[in-house]
Amino acid sequence: MDRQEVSDEPCEQCGLCCKIFGDSITPTAENLFGWIERGRHDILRYFSAHKSDGTWVNCSDVRPGDLDDLVVVEMRDPVTHDYLSACPFLQRLGKRRYICGIHDIKPDMCGTYQPWIWGETYFNKCRALKKLNGKSRLPA
Ligand code: SF4
Ligand code: SF4
Repeated sequence: MDRQEVSDEPCEQCGLCCKIFGDSITPTAENLFGWIERGRHDILRYFSAHKSDGTWVNCSDVRPGDLDDLVVVEMRDPVTHDYLSACPFLQRLGKRRYICGIHDIKPDMCGTYQPWIWGETYFNKCRALKKLNGKSRLPA
């Protein structure tokens, strides 16, 4: 998922992992807090949260004091509230090159994603993995 911050990893920025898995990413409470602090409603609006009382709230309406009350956070269309079919933050730069539009503040699960780690997040269609001749790495 746009692993450009990890200099020793060979991400090709093909965007395939984001295209396939990006519609189901989930931010942590810390991710939500950071976006709230930065006023990033353009990001927050793409997530809805299930609260402990059974109600749903769009994350752009969540305040820091509400975070402990959120049970599940899901990516949803901010207008229709339907599930999305693709991550809205993926940006195409060229024919085969994509970047994350929120790279510096993307969700932890994207920032730590490593498709070359066998047994954890191994993704056999990853171009970087193919470049490594299919050799996976073991978890650290
Ligand atoms: S937030 Fe960024 S890294 Fe994560 S799936 Fe979307 S485009 Fe990819
Ligand atoms: S599939 Fe692999 S090469 Fe392509 S963006 Fe994801 S990590 Fe990078």
